[in-house]
Amino acid sequence: MNLIIFGPPGAGKGTQSKFIAENFKLFQLSTGEFLRKEIKENTEIGKKISSIINSGSLVSDIIVSDLIEKIISNKKYHNRIIFDGYPRSLAQAKNLDNLLNKNNQKIDIVLKLSVSLETVKKRITERRALEKRPDDNEQIAIRRYETYEKSTEPVIEYYKKMNLLKVVDGERSIDQINKEISDIIALI
Ligand code: AMP
Repeated sequence: MNLIIFGPPGAGKGTQSKFIAENFKLFQLSTGEFLRKEIKENTEIGKKISSIINSGSLVSDIIVSDLIEKIISNKKYHNRIIFDGYPRSLAQAKNLDNLLNKNNQKIDIVLKLSVSLETVKKRITERRALEKRPDDNEQIAIRRYETYEKSTEPVIEYYKKMNLLKVVDGERSIDQINKEISDIIALI
């Protein structure tokens, strides 16, 4: 099973992806985490993208596509991927279809965690106290929420038309969300 999880920053997407990965033995492909690792290790890619990521904008399609292709084409992860942070635009969604096709795979389910901007701001403030991500301050959080709304909503429509979309209420507790997601996945 391959799955996509959507949600604005602060929606609990990372937390839920980790939970699904452990519970259903899937590989969590978090593009944000992969990119932050490149920055931390000061690689050539890392140097190119650090200012982009820190300002809350999107990194170039080619960089991210190369990254996910490595995972999709790896037999170890065949039909076992949670896409967390990809696709973020229609172009990326179509690219993902192509890459999956090429590797005899498909998307089985698309989860959308829905939360309000107010909740996002509150959670980002709480997370900042714990993790110190440089892109976690309120202004940048708003920017990332807006970027998410603008570029990701058409992608969500795309999956809705394909009958793959399930909307999950992300305002509730982590455990309640875990439970709903488990129930949805168990039915696939
Ligand atoms: P995230 O951890 O998913 O919130 O991603 C953090 C940052 O990484 C984003 O704000 C973007 O700058 C970059 N990023 C992650 N995934 C993508 C993607 N699919 N396309 C472009 N940029 C991305």
